Amino acid sequence: MHQHLPCHHHTGRRLSPAIAMLLLLLCLGCTPDVSTPVVILAPLPYGIDALAPTISPRTMALHYQKHHAGYVVRANALIEESRFKGKKIEKILVATRGKKKFEDIFNNTAQAWNHDFFWRCLTPTKNKRPTGPLALAINEEFGGWQNFRNAFILTATTHFGSGWAWLVSDKGSLRILATSNADTPLAMGLTPLFALDLWEHAYYLDVQNRRKAYVEGVFDTLADWKAVEARYQP
Ligand code: MN
Repeated sequence: MHQHLPCHHHTGRRLSPAIAMLLLLLCLGCTPDVSTPVVILAPLPYGIDALAPTISPRTMALHYQKHHAGYVVRANALIEESRFKGKKIEKILVATRGKKKFEDIFNNTAQAWNHDFFWRCLTPTKNKRPTGPLALAINEEFGGWQNFRNAFILTATTHFGSGWAWLVSDKGSLRILATSNADTPLAMGLTPLFALDLWEHAYYLDVQNRRKAYVEGVFDTLADWKAVEARYQP
């Protein structure tokens, strides 16, 4: 009984087994890597214009789509070529922090994480101050909300150069600190509760050199204290 091979009948050409094997090997070699990248650019939890006027849509668009997205792309490219491929972000940050040869990996990965965290510290919904265990801890550590606010704003406004202002939990104790450039408390064994981006790209289009106006605006009108409270374990 005669059977036609459907694909090759009309052309009269057939792949030799050796060529077929070669093509198969080439295909296996170029199969796209379907593993999830280590660093993800998560969608913003609100619209690009939701934080105006404190943070303008123009600043948000540049900040998220250019700065943050750029760190994510660069971090993944560097991690892919390194011994940290497939590792969790926190592990990578702890392992690379303060090491000259891993400076690029640390800086880009930390900035990617810091920005993702920062967006999740903000909300367009006017948020009441904390009321639960976080409120108690703030009263205990700082002597009330006004003192806490003053201390945070002082740290954020007096930090020299680029960096971040943070509220962190050190095994339940609250601390305010600032870090330079990409540095992050996540790599220091601390639990970040709230972050404020102090890089000029975060505010220069909106308030130019008046960092204090930006710091106060975010603290008073955009900080998501509910999210901060949810992160706090006394
Ligand atoms: Mn930034």
